[in-house]
Amino acid sequence: MTRSALWHPFTQHAIEPAPIRIGRTQGAYLETPDGKRILDAISSWWVITHGHRYPRIIDAVRTATQTLDQIIFAGLTHEPAETLASALVAMAPQGLDRVFLSDSGSTSVEVGLKMALGFHRNTGDPRSRIIVMEHSYHGDTIGTMSVGARGVFNAAYAPLMFAVDTIPFPAAGREQETLDHVEALTRDGRAAAVIVEPLVLGAGGMLIYPAWVLAEIRRITERTGTLLIADEVMTGWGRTGTLFACEQAGIAPDILCTSKGLTGGVLPLAATLATEAVFEAHLSTDRAKTFFHSSSYTANPIACAAAVANVGIWRDEPVAERVSALSRWQAERLSRFASDPRFANVRGIGTIAALDLRVRTPGYLAEAGPALRAFFLERGLLLRPLGNVIYVMPPYCITSAELDRLYDAIDEAADLACGR
Ligand SMILES: *Cc1c(COP(=O)(O)O)cnc(C)c1O
Repeated sequence: MTRSALWHPFTQHAIEPAPIRIGRTQGAYLETPDGKRILDAISSWWVITHGHRYPRIIDAVRTATQTLDQIIFAGLTHEPAETLASALVAMAPQGLDRVFLSDSGSTSVEVGLKMALGFHRNTGDPRSRIIVMEHSYHGDTIGTMSVGARGVFNAAYAPLMFAVDTIPFPAAGREQETLDHVEALTRDGRAAAVIVEPLVLGAGGMLIYPAWVLAEIRRITERTGTLLIADEVMTGWGRTGTLFACEQAGIAPDILCTSKGLTGGVLPLAATLATEAVFEAHLSTDRAKTFFHSSSYTANPIACAAAVANVGIWRDEPVAERVSALSRWQAERLSRFASDPRFANVRGIGTIAALDLRVRTPGYLAEAGPALRAFFLERGLLLRPLGNVIYVMPPYCITSAELDRLYDAIDEAADLACGR
């Protein structure tokens, strides 16, 4: 075979096996050209919600291409974007009345950060410090890496990153410590924004914290005039059991970022929702106060049409029921490992389940991820552990029997990894 020119994401080409070619997707499955089926237990990096090639979304894409392709979104608008924006405002937590469209989760966060700085500057109270949570992940651009956890993944780029203030992760029993930090860092009224992944820190290891902590963070930010940015890029569209995770805390942030499941995972699209106050801060006869941001593919009509179809699915189909059934199945299967000595921190929220493998041999950790990935692939299962954290985040069409297959394999893998 001729050498591929492709450079894959988060891939060490010197060590890792050649990527598996996929020729077709359907429901919860990926299929190789020779017909091998692989169960997509991580929703293709957390984007696929209803299932691959969900007919209603695919049909909407096909229909949209009969009339539109990309059009410039400055000075022009179109039906799919207008419909999507109204729907998002109606579905999102109260008060998020403005919608800025872009094309990736990282970009939606960059947009949120820029909105926050613009808000303070334009209202005559320039603030620029951003408060972030330990172990967070917000994307891989320089700006989003700056507000995320530092480590081996971004050490090379650290010289370009901006400084932030970090609050500790609200681990069980230490929630007050987190809140005290928020309080201390916002008291002088100089922090521009607090950015959080609501309820679950995804790439940081599926770390879950209680909704009341988020509610308290909201209270403190409100009192100190600090904006709250909720990065719902992963948590949105049912992942945590509710449409948006913020709902469980009964809060509305000032800025909310959504992407991944926005189009059901079919096409790249992102939205940053903001309050009227944030929008109004940029409203002026002074052009210098304009919100200066754009990507070439902002509000791509085909992607917007896919998102409108997704919104329609949430409106017309029993998605909430599917999500709650899946959540229950996940919890049932996790309970089997609750006091299993091979695992620690057995946890779940909504459709997400995670457990830490207690690896016996030190140094095994470095290889655990790739070794486990290979083990699962041999069994036709796509799982991608984060170090020793095994997590299951499937599309909502997965069946109870398919989950059984997955958890049986996790059971087997644990014996292998823990050296039994
Ligand atoms: C995936 C993710 C992002 C980045 O989204 P991309 O589309 O990959 O740029 C940002 N925030 C969170 C919480 C994510 O999980």
